[in-house]
Amino acid sequence: MSIENGCEHKPVWVGRVAVTACADCGRVDWLSHQGAIDPAEAMAALFGSYDLVGAMDALGAPSAEVLVYAPPSARKRRHLEALPKRVWLKAAPHLWMSTDGDNLLLSVTRRLLFENLLRGA
Ligand SMILES: [Zn+2]
Repeated sequence: MSIENGCEHKPVWVGRVAVTACADCGRVDWLSHQGAIDPAEAMAALFGSYDLVGAMDALGAPSAEVLVYAPPSARKRRHLEALPKRVWLKAAPHLWMSTDGDNLLLSVTRRLLFENLLRGA
């Protein structure tokens, strides 16, 4: 745990990945037992099995459209509990994530990356 800018950053372990997602400052840190982990690898470990439902317009998101991903099972849905609800968190460069508790929402601020994700590439 670390204290930065007055908020408390407490890691939550989901399998082999720890995620520290702060509702107050929107910061996300990823960690594994081996130390630092690439955000893309960490995202894949947590949400790689999620199914892309589609894109929707989202007010208040970093991009005009966001991608909606649904968990394949109740067990996998629990991975979302590592994230605070209804806050946009900076998961990686150009990639923001949020959740309403049921689905994972991704906001991509670079169009090409958005289109690649939408195609499942
Ligand atoms: Zn914080």
